[in-house]
Amino acid sequence: MTVPVDAIVVGSGATGGVAALVLAEAGLQVLLLEAGPALSPRQARGSEPLNSLRRLAHLSSGRHRLQRHHPGYWKHNPELFVDERRNPYSTPPDQPFLWSRGRQVGGKSLTWGGITLRLSDFEFQAPALDGAGPAWPIGSTDLAPFYTRLERLLGVHAPATDCRSSPMGTTGRRCRSHRGSNGWARRSSGSSACP
Ligand SMILES: Cc1cc2nc3c(=O)[nH]c(=O)nc-3n(C[C@H](O)[C@H](O)[C@H](O)COP(=O)(O)OP(=O)(O)OC[C@H]3O[C@@H](n4cnc5c(N)ncnc54)[C@H](O)[C@@H]3O)c2cc1C
Repeated sequence: MTVPVDAIVVGSGATGGVAALVLAEAGLQVLLLEAGPALSPRQARGSEPLNSLRRLAHLSSGRHRLQRHHPGYWKHNPELFVDERRNPYSTPPDQPFLWSRGRQVGGKSLTWGGITLRLSDFEFQAPALDGAGPAWPIGSTDLAPFYTRLERLLGVHAPATDCRSSPMGTTGRRCRSHRGSNGWARRSSGSSACP
């Protein structure tokens, strides 16, 4: 049987999931391909002491040699992180990069810490400021309406600050931005992030 589709989206994480949603809402027939399983909330959460035992096993087998460095690894069911032995990657020795990966429906939205900061013009202009290349051709004001739409859809928002490095999000919504107790939360919630 042949099913005609207008668009194929690979990966159902925050990026692919939203892309598929927007395309489908625009009336396109969308095929969303996902490499991992669809987990129930219970399966995704796992339970203690099993999560801790699995962590021990995955650390000693080398399955999570790198991913253990993400603070969020210690908060979640370790099954939500890929097996590095089956999914290796390399970086130049002088440019190490910790690549945390999840392979399941929803991708890393199942492990994220709930911090919902908007990108600022510091990020968009970073290549030019660092001398690494041209700045992005868009800025935070161009993205603001799209952030607002997503924040309303997901019921999250960036902190209501007037900080240049963290543009203000939609206000008056349930705030999850400082909910997490993992490394993201600790790093991002301090006012010292504001220049
Ligand atoms: C523990 C943790 C905490 C985090 N906390 C925060 C936070 O608080 N705030 C924040 O802003 N960000 C946070 N992040 C980062 C954030 O979660 C990610 O940047 C974001 O979820 C990435 O979304 P994505 O759709 O780009 O990628 P992913 O979520 O990685 O989605 C990729 C999808 O593609 C699928 N896939 C891969 N290969 C294939 C293939 N060959 N075929 C089909 N499908 C494939 C995967 O299974 C996956 O579902 C956190 C990340 C981690 C790991």
